[in-house]
Amino acid sequence: MARWLTNRNRQAAPAVVLSDVRPEYADGVQASTALVSGGLAGEGFRLRLRLHGDGPLDHSATPFLPLLAILAAASGTDGVVDGSVDAAALDGAERAMAVQAGFFDLRAPKLQASEVVAGGAAAGSGEQAAGGRQGRGTGLFFSRGVDSMATFLTDRSEITHFIVIDWVDAPYLSEGLVAATAGTRAAAESIGVPLLRVTSNARQLLDANPGWLIFHGQLLAASALLLSPQLAEVRISSTVSAGDPTPNSVHELSTDLWSSSRTAVVHRHAVTGTRVDKTALVAGDDWAMRWLNVCFTKNGEGNCGACPKCLLTMTTLDLVGAGDRLGERFDAPLTVEAVRACAETVPRTALENQRSLIDRLDDGPMRDAWRQVLANTEAGLAAKGSALERRIAQRRSDGE
Ligand SMILES: [Zn+2]
Repeated sequence: MARWLTNRNRQAAPAVVLSDVRPEYADGVQASTALVSGGLAGEGFRLRLRLHGDGPLDHSATPFLPLLAILAAASGTDGVVDGSVDAAALDGAERAMAVQAGFFDLRAPKLQASEVVAGGAAAGSGEQAAGGRQGRGTGLFFSRGVDSMATFLTDRSEITHFIVIDWVDAPYLSEGLVAATAGTRAAAESIGVPLLRVTSNARQLLDANPGWLIFHGQLLAASALLLSPQLAEVRISSTVSAGDPTPNSVHELSTDLWSSSRTAVVHRHAVTGTRVDKTALVAGDDWAMRWLNVCFTKNGEGNCGACPKCLLTMTTLDLVGAGDRLGERFDAPLTVEAVRACAETVPRTALENQRSLIDRLDDGPMRDAWRQVLANTEAGLAAKGSALERRIAQRRSDGE
């Protein structure tokens, strides 16, 4: 944890360099690849962004800018591209990363490139900023969680493609993951929305530092820019509610800044309100309830029903009137005892969702159980006392 503070205070080391951008093709998989070296990339690592299917990709260095930005920040240095990038994406990536660096106590990197191409984008509406549609669609990152389900139910008349991020590189590939991705494909096919399956090896480089929670927004942005020949706009569903100061890799203060002059990356709050309101939207739609997938614990399709994320979702579904349907998607029943049992393992990122749920629950044993879970989580975080947690607490008290 102290590493973040060290990074912020350290003088910039030699820059991380991104070079040798080139395509690869194998077995129906197309990739755009780039070599990164310096900083955490050491002697060199070949980053790959792949599309498992047909359709044109952006083979310039532009899609790699968000990943270069987080790699440079986590390395405590700047980023240099030996190659061609979109001017708007270069400027935006530096600004987006400055926001994220403030969230996570990283050093905000400067980014530069050997060739910067102006996209001719006009200021104004999203369509103009995206350089015109030219027959291109609007994509939505689709994990089948409450957030992306709610966004689809709100925006469905505008969404032309789903995008799923999947993992095929060691050690992330598993049978359970294959089953979950098959479920996502079936969900998309059942309503006739094409699914673009994107994979990357970026976790091999960035999982250890800065970690998935801090860099997943950059991978989503990179994937969106990779698809710019097909998509004029890509929407990313917010996990935190509008106005919530909790730092997140996907946040309303940074997401849209990752846009290029060709493709608008758009942060979406499906509803004004909390996760309870999003869950109510999902509960009212049979298709969404049929395919809802919130669980990261179960190794396969469906939801374990016992992890904190499942229990939070189940309690919320029960609150909004869908309690009789939990058995269709969750492997274990919702009980007060199960909620009490998850007290020690609730992640910090779920704190706001817990608070908004407790606000809405009626007095009774279930509300008492969640209050106890919340108290335990807060006490545990306070005891850890990491720099990041202190910063989040500070932002929260500043915002109040
Ligand atoms: Zn679960």
